[in-house]
Amino acid sequence: MEQCMICGSTEVERDTVTHHATEFGVRSVYLLNTPVTRCRECGDEAITIPHYGRVARQIRDRLCALNRVLEGNEFALLRRELGLTATELARRINVHAVTISRWEHGHVSLSQSADRLLRTWTLAALGYKWMDMDRLLGSLPEGGIDHVEIDLATGPDGEFWMETHYRFGGTQSAWKMVRGRK
Ligand SMILES: [Zn+2]
Repeated sequence: MEQCMICGSTEVERDTVTHHATEFGVRSVYLLNTPVTRCRECGDEAITIPHYGRVARQIRDRLCALNRVLEGNEFALLRRELGLTATELARRINVHAVTISRWEHGHVSLSQSADRLLRTWTLAALGYKWMDMDRLLGSLPEGGIDHVEIDLATGPDGEFWMETHYRFGGTQSAWKMVRGRK
């Protein structure tokens, strides 16, 4: 029997919601069909994100397809996921560490080239081939997306997941990719 973690009631119901996933530190990510358990007694809601690691990976993937310059918080997320400190990244792209800090805190807009460089590194780290990266970045900004939506119902375990790059940006033709096909 399922129990509420707060009040212990067994009057819990399951539902799915669109979850604005700000826990990743960014504002542009929505998870569709996110499982939620809701307590009828105390009103507590608990969200679960199945296959968290793969969802987090997919978020990085999609952030690279945004049709605008990355926000500082998105840039910071991608940098951290690459395992780089602000100082290490500053050294690699030959800017002052303070510049990275200003970008990430939103005091100054990112330079377009730093944005593209970080996307390229991220895509490379995710296993993209050069041709795919070139196609993806070459179709921006027109072929990009303005926010990230990941459907957990058809997510990591579904067939759709393997074809996700065809859907990159929501336009089937713009994102023909072969990665992930067996
Ligand atoms: Zn409760």
